[in-house]
Amino acid sequence: MTKYFEVLRRDGPARLGKLLLERQIGTPSLLTADDFSSAGSIFRHSSLEDAASAAQALIESRPDAKRLTIMPYAPAFLRSEPSVILPTCKMDGPKGIVLQPFSSEKPDEADVYVLAFAGVLRNPRDLISAVVGARKCIPPDTALYAPALATPANLAFLVYLGIDLLDSTRVVADGLLGRYHTRDGVWDAKDLSELPCRCEHCRKLGERRDDGRLLAAHNLLKLEEELLVVRETTRSETIREYVERQVRVTPDLTASLRVLDQEHRYLEMRTPQQRRSTFFANTGESLQRVEVTRFAERVIQRYKAPQSDVLLLLPCSAKKPYSMSRSHRLFAEAVGSHHRYLHELILTSPLALVPRELEEVYPAASYDVPVTGRWDLEERAWLCKCLDAYLEKNRYAKIVSHLDGELEEAVKSHGIDAVYTGGGTNGPALVRLSEAIAQACHGAARLPDARLLRYRALADVYFGSGAGEALLAGKVQIRGRELQDERKKPLAMLTVNGALALSLEGAKRIEPLGRYIVTIGDFMPKGSLLAPGVVDADSEIRPGDEVIVRGERAFGLGKAKMSGWEMVASRRGVAAELRHMKEMKQ
Ligand SMILES: [Zn+2]
Repeated sequence: MTKYFEVLRRDGPARLGKLLLERQIGTPSLLTADDFSSAGSIFRHSSLEDAASAAQALIESRPDAKRLTIMPYAPAFLRSEPSVILPTCKMDGPKGIVLQPFSSEKPDEADVYVLAFAGVLRNPRDLISAVVGARKCIPPDTALYAPALATPANLAFLVYLGIDLLDSTRVVADGLLGRYHTRDGVWDAKDLSELPCRCEHCRKLGERRDDGRLLAAHNLLKLEEELLVVRETTRSETIREYVERQVRVTPDLTASLRVLDQEHRYLEMRTPQQRRSTFFANTGESLQRVEVTRFAERVIQRYKAPQSDVLLLLPCSAKKPYSMSRSHRLFAEAVGSHHRYLHELILTSPLALVPRELEEVYPAASYDVPVTGRWDLEERAWLCKCLDAYLEKNRYAKIVSHLDGELEEAVKSHGIDAVYTGGGTNGPALVRLSEAIAQACHGAARLPDARLLRYRALADVYFGSGAGEALLAGKVQIRGRELQDERKKPLAMLTVNGALALSLEGAKRIEPLGRYIVTIGDFMPKGSLLAPGVVDADSEIRPGDEVIVRGERAFGLGKAKMSGWEMVASRRGVAAELRHMKEMKQ
């Protein structure tokens, strides 16, 4: 199955793929009536046998053509189970099955699943629970088609939600009814004194505002244009940012994104560990993003701060990594040689806490947020919750807070026991910082080499608690950006984007923890590891994660291209790009 569909790239639940019908369709895409044949509802036929033979006739009518054939379906009311269970129809070509939303029945195998009632799922909760429910019950390497739903305004959200195939039904029908669509919403064409579009159809519409065909043609053009934008934002890994701004068009769409954000596990299972794009935290919804909660969860649960008597709290800077900014250079000067006796924690929105060792980890090194100096109640609550959890796990004898304005007030009013300097970067402020640090560090224990602490922290954050200890066991040393064992063999190195790349020796040290492992069959893979070759994979693996690949004949490393659960459930697609594969002696 799924010989006809393959997912090529992912950005959260949004996917770029290819559907191999008579024409190769790059998804997300708009299906047309020419792309498929449908046996239709069983009620069009006099009996179930008739419906089955109609489907068989469809399949046999074009035996060589790779035409999507949609099996007959039994209509049912929304939220009810199908009235009859139809017999499975065997066929060679691409097969489509109509999926009843909210049904508990496991659907038959197919290449494309057609979501019934998609066009009437206008209520955000129904829409999200229908699509999320559908995605959970169908294999990840199959396509989901939602007919009669797409408009230029909602297309980005629908693709982000996890729909691969849409169509022009709704905008064309709307056009014939006199409605005019753009990415910014829909109007009654007669109410517009000027048309906000210069396409050839709109030029003609000037005089003939009620010409349904022209309106439909314009609407379709706008939908197609939007599809190109959505594909490009998925490709450049910025679809979330695009969706956050696009859903402002209507309260229903904004509500839809908020409801989807409550499906946090659904999003988390599909969100890559790292993106090439800068993370824009422009909206209230940004605080709910997987990247934010995942980073905080890793800082609090996986990461363990070095043993230190003194903690210094600092504000973030616009420039990343923070230590390259003017303000952080001034702080470093003020702290001077005392930096060996203290640990630094940067407080920021929306990531909450960034330990200095993790400042180059995604998204700490590549996020941007509108800076106003204001901390609203939601941001404060999130920050304080993270800070409490952090200080519960990592204890310090003294805390120096060099924070200013509302950030200082938030931490102070939360009752954090610290020396508050008032923050700032001017001369007197830096003197206050310097004096507070000198006093706090008096008699404090010296910390290990900061570079070693960084390797330890990165290993913990990427491979889970205990990975740092395993990687740095025994005598280790650092040369340049490389961590070496005592025989000078490389264990790991820092990549240019601040991530940790293991060597085979390093992988051997981390492997016994049993995390981020992809188990393969008895073969020696080269280049790309394909999903059918995967026997098992850690369910924590996300696209972009460094993974340890092991099988009876091979051991090595790779970069995951899909999530671990997806590697196990897929029969098509690249599971990981490999490097350093070594053949094991039998
Ligand atoms: Zn137009």
